[in-house]
Amino acid sequence: MLSARNICKRFGDAEVLRDISLEVDQGQVVAVIGPSGSGKSTLLRCINQFETIDSGEITVCGKKMVSFDERLQRTVYADKDTLRKIRLDLGMVFQNYNLFPHFSVLRNITEAPVSVLGKPRREAEAEAKVLLSKMGLSDKAEQYPYQLSGGQQQRVSIARAMALSPKILFFDEPTSALDPELTGAILRVIRALAQEHMTMVIVTHEMAFARDVADHIVFMDEGVVVESGTPEEVFFRPKEERTQRFLQRYF
Ligand code: ATP
Ligand code: MG
Repeated sequence: MLSARNICKRFGDAEVLRDISLEVDQGQVVAVIGPSGSGKSTLLRCINQFETIDSGEITVCGKKMVSFDERLQRTVYADKDTLRKIRLDLGMVFQNYNLFPHFSVLRNITEAPVSVLGKPRREAEAEAKVLLSKMGLSDKAEQYPYQLSGGQQQRVSIARAMALSPKILFFDEPTSALDPELTGAILRVIRALAQEHMTMVIVTHEMAFARDVADHIVFMDEGVVVESGTPEEVFFRPKEERTQRFLQRYF
């Protein structure tokens, strides 16, 4: 589904991603963990085309997004049309929801399907209502984001991402702005998506959740993947000292 190989990314002099590789299979849930500043958000942003990479290769659902051109001897991005198609395969849920403040909940969800996919509004609204009911928010369709709690806004943003039927859904610390009670509802929604075999990459500090839901754990530190494996391996039998030190804070 997703293959990112040898990704390097720098901001000025700072090497933020150093030869990072990430493979995600269909239906797999991958949790990315690691200390603040280790490059987790940057990695998601590079895969989702919010940032460009300096070198490396990314392939999404069989489509090459960035690759090394032997003839030019450098990393090249695919053409605009391919990049646009790839973007439609990917959905992203942010830490701070990023809802459109001046749109109702329903409009937040229907906007992209109508304007990007050209779906008839009626159809988009019917689908949005199904998603809202899945999120436990059927009664909030006509409200505005400021009228909702953080946890409710986050569920709207998940519904918004799902409305474009992404093949892979990315979450960047979806619960870190929420108190524990609201966190539970978001984690339940993600868990339900996992049971439906949604392919997901989740950056999270919720270690117990990552352990229970993820098929694969990637531990990053200082721009490198220090260790990766099953939750069993990484949480209970970490090989690297850096992983052990990081996990001590949680378990
Ligand atoms: P956190 O857990 O705190 O969210 P993170 O692992 O997501 O951390 P990133 O946000 O990816 O970390 O940041 C990695 C490094 O890249 C940090 O040192 C950060 O300061 C730097 N960085 C991120 N974005 C930019 C940018 N646009 N310009 C310059 N430096 C950046
Ligand atoms: Mg981050």
